[in-house]
Amino acid sequence: MTERIVVGAALLEGRRLLAARRSAPEELAGRWELPGGKVEPGEAPEAALVRELREELGVDAEVVERVPGQWPLKSPYVLQVWVACLLPGSGEPKPLQDHDELRWLAPGELWDVDWLEPDVPAVREVAGRLGAA
Ligand code: C5P
Repeated sequence: MTERIVVGAALLEGRRLLAARRSAPEELAGRWELPGGKVEPGEAPEAALVRELREELGVDAEVVERVPGQWPLKSPYVLQVWVACLLPGSGEPKPLQDHDELRWLAPGELWDVDWLEPDVPAVREVAGRLGAA
């Protein structure tokens, strides 16, 4: 089956990373993730990321760069992650869809939340960039 991409955002503000707590589905509720979602057919992953951040968090973001690698999810999905930042005047993220809590994690707090397993290697990579490996 053709691989389908799920995009996740390592949304940074200064040296803090945004973590989002899922409210659904039941088996993922309470776990933390990099916000994002499925790329639609014909959509560029970077465009999907910007769309998902607008829909889920109500923010205007821009993609900075890809975090190298990709991580398997339930077939046929794979997770790809991009570093992103908020555009000036975007306003603060709010949990509008799929999430019930958001946290900006300082470098020393990155492992304080229970990340979904597929997100862990990407968070580790970002932690390295923030000098918090
Ligand atoms: O957000 P959405 O439900 O479209 O994501 C599809 C699936 O991808 C989720 O059910 C979840 O298992 C997985 N996912 C993940 N880490 C993310 C985003 C999604 O593991 N950052």
